[in-house]
Amino acid sequence: MDNGLLVVISGPSGAGKGTICKRLKEVMKDLKVSVSTTTRKPRNGEVEGESYFFINEDDFIKKINNNELLEHAKVYGNYYGTPKEEVFKQLEEGNDVILEIDIQGALQVKKNYPRGVFIFILPPSLKELKNRIEGRGTDSKEVILRRMKCAYDELNYAFEYDYVVLNDDVETAVDKIQCIIKAEKNRAVRKKAIINKIREV
Ligand code: 5GP
Repeated sequence: MDNGLLVVISGPSGAGKGTICKRLKEVMKDLKVSVSTTTRKPRNGEVEGESYFFINEDDFIKKINNNELLEHAKVYGNYYGTPKEEVFKQLEEGNDVILEIDIQGALQVKKNYPRGVFIFILPPSLKELKNRIEGRGTDSKEVILRRMKCAYDELNYAFEYDYVVLNDDVETAVDKIQCIIKAEKNRAVRKKAIINKIREV
C-alpha cells in the first residue's frame, strides 16, 4: 500500500484555516486531522484531545528534547507542536492526514517531510482578517495588533508553498482544496503500489 498524503494547511492566523479544516473533515470523512499539543490555556468550549492536547511548558520542552514532535513553534507566546508518532502511524496505514499549523511549523515540515502537500490559505484582505480575529472575541486589542502586523509580514511566505487558496468563501476554498488533494493522490510517485499490484499475474 502507498503511504497516505500529508496535507499541510497553513497561513496567517485568522485566515480561516480552522473553519476550512473543520468543513474539509465533514466532506472528506476519511481524512485524519492531527491534534496538536499546546501550552496555550483552553478557550471556552475547547475539548482536551480533540481541540488540542493541553500541556505545561516543562512537558512541552521534554517532548521537543525527546524528538516527539514533527515540528513545533512559539506562536504569540505559546508553544504549539505536531505529535510525530500518530501522524506517521496514520500515513503508514495509508490514511491521509491534515495538519493545520502556522507558517514557521509548515516550513519545518517542508524540510523534514518534503513529500507533503503545502497549502497556504490567503485571507481576502487584511481588513477582513482583522474583522475575523475581532469577531472571535478571544483576543485583546494588543494581541490583535500584533497578529495583524505578523499577518502582513507572513504573506511573503506564500511563495514557499505548493498552492495558494483564497478564502473569500469557505465552500469555494474547501472545493479547491478537495481538488488539490484528489489530484495529488494521483501523482505517479504515489501510485507505486497499485502499479506493482497490476503487474501481478
Ligand atoms: P490558536 O491558539 O488560535 O488555536 O492557534 C494559533 C496559531 O497556532 C494558529 O495559526 C494555528 O494554525 C497554529 N497552530 C495550531 N497548532 C499548531 C501546531 O501544532 N504547530 C504549529 N506550528 N502551529 C500550530
